[in-house]
Amino acid sequence: MGRLENKVAVITGAGSGIGAETARRFVAEGARVVVADLRADGSAVAESLGDAARFIQADVSKEADVRAMLDLAVSTWGHLDCLYNNAGFCGALGPIESTSVEDYDLTFDVLLKSVFLGLKHAAPIMKRQRSGSIISTASIAAFQNGGQHLYGVAKLAVVKLTETVALELGEHSVRVNCICPGFIATPLPFGRPNATAEQLDRMRAAGAKSQPLGRVGETSDIAAAALFLASDESSFVTGHALVVDGGMSKGPRWSRWPELARTHKPIRMYRPEDR
Ligand code: NAD
Repeated sequence: MGRLENKVAVITGAGSGIGAETARRFVAEGARVVVADLRADGSAVAESLGDAARFIQADVSKEADVRAMLDLAVSTWGHLDCLYNNAGFCGALGPIESTSVEDYDLTFDVLLKSVFLGLKHAAPIMKRQRSGSIISTASIAAFQNGGQHLYGVAKLAVVKLTETVALELGEHSVRVNCICPGFIATPLPFGRPNATAEQLDRMRAAGAKSQPLGRVGETSDIAAAALFLASDESSFVTGHALVVDGGMSKGPRWSRWPELARTHKPIRMYRPEDR
């Protein structure tokens, strides 16, 4: 018996990367899944999963689209056990002075408003059922600085929203958690939606050098975390931000530390006989 037997899930951004791998993993564990994505070619993921999946083209920043993807799950299979708010993009890049208000709005619409809308519309369905698990993809960018101004702010807000809504929905036996991935080999950090396998391999090789575990993350690492949070195995876990980053947010790879720190003999402690 699979770990998600008889469960129904909606996964956003499931036409690519983390979302697509999670949809495959959930179905392999017995779930039925709505694959939601802005891109029409995301339908290929649902088609490859047969009758256990349905595709809907949806923009997660639009309230009507979010309602429609949840309605599709309930009208097709009768209930909603998991919503995984995963869709995203890298958001506005560049110096603050050249960041346009349009890019600001788009960044927060796709990375934050989407999570708000998912929580808002999954809540009444799951409260009626008195069960459900809502997961969102945040990022370790929520806790680290550098490079992007708005992406990290949006992801930190996802962590905060996870915590506060978990408190509200806990009384209805609905759990709310988020996952904070590190560097995962998908088109997103590459900056192009259609990165080739060769380009991803080059990214893996370059990224591995700075990783404590000596490799970058794979979509299967995040799908495994989502599986845990969607399943009953995590029935006492709510309001949690699960970091899945191979140690990246804790510091650099050991061999990258200065020679002195790695090889210096331990300093002898002061002892009473030294007096
Ligand atoms: P990806 O580009 O492979 O997949 C993202 C998917 O989201 C795409 O299919 C895209 O079409 C879809 N999408 C984008 N905007 C949308 C919208 N408005 N409505 C519906 N779908 C939309 O990237 P990924 O790495 O799988 O990203 C998934 C999530 O993981 C994102 O939220 C991202 O911020 C987060 N994340 C990724 C990494 C990483 O290193 N890859 C690290 C931390 C967090």
